[in-house]
Amino acid sequence: MDSVIITYEQLSALRRLADRTYPHEACALLAGSIEVDVDRSSSTYRVRQVIEVDNVDRSSVSFSIGEDDLLRAYDLMSSNGLELVGIFHTHPFSNAYPSGKDLKYMQINPVPWIILGGEGNMRAFITDEGKGVKELRLLLVSAG
Ligand SMILES: [Zn+2]
Repeated sequence: MDSVIITYEQLSALRRLADRTYPHEACALLAGSIEVDVDRSSSTYRVRQVIEVDNVDRSSVSFSIGEDDLLRAYDLMSSNGLELVGIFHTHPFSNAYPSGKDLKYMQINPVPWIILGGEGNMRAFITDEGKGVKELRLLLVSAG
């Protein structure tokens, strides 16, 4: 099974971002490394850096990331030798499951999508090669 590994510290940063951005959806790009098992049966997405970005929609039900933020994030990732391992956003008033718009964009951006729901749960999903989406295991670890 594929997993996303995130530290407690990164989780706190994401929760603080969610609180600051409330009642709008908050979003962030997660940079890190991807490890694939020898038999290629599973992938591990390890988050190394949270890159906070603005939700240019300023909406409670959708988010978009501006071009300036995207360029800044990709510059940062390339200078730190990291790749995109996740797209994080919040659902201030609904659960941590992809919306219809999310499902559409998840097909275009085949990295884990990490959603923090209004109830406080966080879940990760990824496109399942055109067969809808599958949930990933989300592992919380101490920094180190
Ligand atoms: Zn969403």
